Amino acid sequence: MEFSLNSIKHSKCAVIVAHPDDETLWAGGTILMNPDNEWTIISTCRKHDPDRNPRYYAALKILNATGDMGNLDDGPEQNPLEKRDVETTILSLLKKTDYDLIMTHSTQGEYTRHRRHEEVAEAVLGLIESKRLTAKSLWMFAYEDGGREYLPKPIKHADQFVFLPQDIWNKKYQIVTETYGFHQESWESRATPRKEAFWAFHSAGGAKKWIQERSSVK
Ligand SMILES: [Zn+2]
Repeated sequence: MEFSLNSIKHSKCAVIVAHPDDETLWAGGTILMNPDNEWTIISTCRKHDPDRNPRYYAALKILNATGDMGNLDDGPEQNPLEKRDVETTILSLLKKTDYDLIMTHSTQGEYTRHRRHEEVAEAVLGLIESKRLTAKSLWMFAYEDGGREYLPKPIKHADQFVFLPQDIWNKKYQIVTETYGFHQESWESRATPRKEAFWAFHSAGGAKKWIQERSSVK
């Protein structure tokens, strides 16, 4: 693959996630390693969560990013959301519609299993496909947990594999444990990946083809 971290230097990047903390868990190291980029980070849920809301904005400050939060349902039932509601929410939270790089969840999620992650990925793909959102590259988080066998880990054969220097990982871990306040024994703290991995695409078509190929292998 021709993508490299150098290719995202000084570029306009949007990170589109379902929840406050997803940006840090799955891409926080890569964000911290590229402080000169213009980072916009949006979360589609938890705007009115009095605990997560201020923690999210504090995390964005450390990540040198700006962003916003939406208020999509995130109840324990995880009732499916309408795709167009997710799409509309994403567009309303982004200040621009044209980016060099968009990062988001994988349509298969990062672990077993959170429906909101998959829905956000599908909505981003829909927006890019219909050109309501444009990006030179689309990176989707590439992690798996072996169907809950272990904590999520980066997929080794992903297109982009980012090794986090110790000081970067420390800072990322600090955001998880101190800024978000997760206990050291929490799933989030224990899962905080030391390496980050992404599937990289030039177009929504490329991403969709990849998704179809993967689902036909299953
Ligand atoms: Zn999440």
